[in-house]
Amino acid sequence: MMNKAMLAEHGSNQKQKNVALALRGVSRSFEEGKGRLEILKQADLQLFEGELVAMVAPSGSGKSTLMHLAGLLERPQEGEVYIGGRACGSLNDEERTAIRRNEIGFVYQFHQLLPEFTALENIVIPQLIRGLKRKEAEERARQLLDYMRLGPREAHRPSELSGGEQQRVAIARAVANGPRVLLADEPTGNLDPTTSKYVFDALKALVRASGVAALLATHNLELARMMDRRITLRDGKVVELN
Ligand code: ADP
Ligand code: MG
Repeated sequence: MMNKAMLAEHGSNQKQKNVALALRGVSRSFEEGKGRLEILKQADLQLFEGELVAMVAPSGSGKSTLMHLAGLLERPQEGEVYIGGRACGSLNDEERTAIRRNEIGFVYQFHQLLPEFTALENIVIPQLIRGLKRKEAEERARQLLDYMRLGPREAHRPSELSGGEQQRVAIARAVANGPRVLLADEPTGNLDPTTSKYVFDALKALVRASGVAALLATHNLELARMMDRRITLRDGKVVELN
């Protein structure tokens, strides 16, 4: 079984909860014909370590846009993104890439695992890119696979895994480098309800054990109810739901 110290590289056992991710006054619009499509308008969001937050909003409202800004894949036109208290707007691409690699994990609707590599290798590779030795990376990958109850599947390629298993590997990969923030964009959107619940439970257990701050976009209200907080997007702003 994975111990807490292995999972948590950012001190989840601290009494005082730190802000892992913050968006302050973030705006993002897109050119559309002659006009502009304003998707986020000075939006604010704060996520604490160990928190699991659901983002429930209609398609096209800007969930993925917000995820891309939070994950430093894009830059806002206005406002600032903070990862672990560090303002990321003035950083160069190299610095942003390093933060993305070491402090942010992504899970998408479609697993995006490397098809020619095994489940184990898919979890090892990001750690090698980060600079870990293969032996350590494999050890951690095996622990994560065990934690996800995928130990017996380590030598399988993505095409030899079910949809739910693929997503559990994708989650394990996303946390392989002990990120501060986990961004999951409709991770169960492609799964049946029973599998969705199983994958979600695995993700939730991982969040609890590691202290990572997780933002999970979903249309599944049942899953949303099982998270710590629910937010939505309204008129380009982040609004709390009950
Ligand atoms: P959601 O994830 O909530 O479905 P998105 O963030 O993907 O919504 O998209 C929000 C809106 O912004 C949509 O109308 C989409 O068409 C538009 N949009 C997203 N990305 C781009 C882009 N790169 N260029 C132009 N329009 C975009
Ligand atoms: Mg989306």
